[in-house]
Amino acid sequence: MTDTLAASTRIAPELVELRRRLHRIPELGLHLPDTQAVVLEALSGIDVEVSTGESLSSVVAVLRGRAPVAGERPVVLLRGDMDALPVTEEVDVDYVSQRPGLMHACGHDLHVAGLVGAARILDELRDELVGDVVLMFQPGEEGPGGAEPMIAEGLLEAAGRRVDAAYAVHVYAADHPCGVWFGRPGTLMAAADEVHVVVRGSGGHGAAPERTKDPVPVACEIVLAYQTAVTRQFSVWDPVVLTVGKVAAGTKDNIIPDVAHVEATLRTFSKEHRAKAHEVVAQVADHVAQAHGLTAEVTISRGYPVTVNDVDEFAFARGVVTDLFGSQRWADMVNPEAGSEDMSFVLDEVPGCYLNISACVHADPAVADDNHSARAAFDDSVVPDVAAALAEMALRRSRQLAGR
Ligand SMILES: [Zn+2]
Repeated sequence: MTDTLAASTRIAPELVELRRRLHRIPELGLHLPDTQAVVLEALSGIDVEVSTGESLSSVVAVLRGRAPVAGERPVVLLRGDMDALPVTEEVDVDYVSQRPGLMHACGHDLHVAGLVGAARILDELRDELVGDVVLMFQPGEEGPGGAEPMIAEGLLEAAGRRVDAAYAVHVYAADHPCGVWFGRPGTLMAAADEVHVVVRGSGGHGAAPERTKDPVPVACEIVLAYQTAVTRQFSVWDPVVLTVGKVAAGTKDNIIPDVAHVEATLRTFSKEHRAKAHEVVAQVADHVAQAHGLTAEVTISRGYPVTVNDVDEFAFARGVVTDLFGSQRWADMVNPEAGSEDMSFVLDEVPGCYLNISACVHADPAVADDNHSARAAFDDSVVPDVAAALAEMALRRSRQLAGR
């Protein structure tokens, strides 16, 4: 057994208890004072340099290794997100959420406990740690996004040198049998943006459309032109999903309105197609409107970027997991997911890897309720494994970076 696994086994009961304590007190968004207090308390016995966020209730802890380093000290970042969801829990456990309407339905309570566990393991193995580890406890993953403000507040320089590599793990309530790790190199998750089009014409009587500039047929034409643009302008091997979920105009059958609204979600799987899709949605709306003598104003609210696993970092992280737990506990993901994740902001800045592990409580993962469901249940026996894997990644990667 590796040192990290032996250490995680020893602290397993405390990590599970910590997870259950967090599970009872879910909080939403960027401000998680109760969760932050629990994290600070859990770290209080460890020699780490702690700083808390200014614009959000994040916690950044720097743990410094004691192994001698010849050159520059490597810096590895480990991340755990802390926020919950607006869901009323229906899971029958004695540590059920004490806050109606709020639930850790995406398992971020396991992430926090796993990251605290990694800190405790690294503290114990500090003499073997070459360089420094930045522990990133992040609010707001489920929105509006905590990673970006943490980066703005200096996250990547927290150790005094820029982070060299970054890792994160997410738990899943379904998909695979409990304890199976899964991931893929390259694109892992989509970028998700919102498109809002306002078609401006000038309204009037429904009986005399020639005396108006009717935005309704123009909005309809834009919706159809979008679908054509997706299939004609983008390679099928780098997919683009553009779904118009809302069209709104008018008040009554015989009144032509002044404006019509079109709202769409745009999912892309590469930086290139994301940038191109932003141009295309604006151009198509503008030109269709112009063709009829109207105007279209396009606003894009940028969501999270594409989440990309660096190919080498993925191979490294997968190697750590299969060394620790055996290749029977690994599954390759064939396709990326169309969801999105704000660890993407960190992975845009530094190479790294984001892996998943199943914490499914059912013998048959196909019938289990998925993350975000009121019935999503997570087996916290995986928390010590998450802790061991993160600690092992930090130990090994910093040794590699230091050239040993
Ligand atoms: Zn999540």
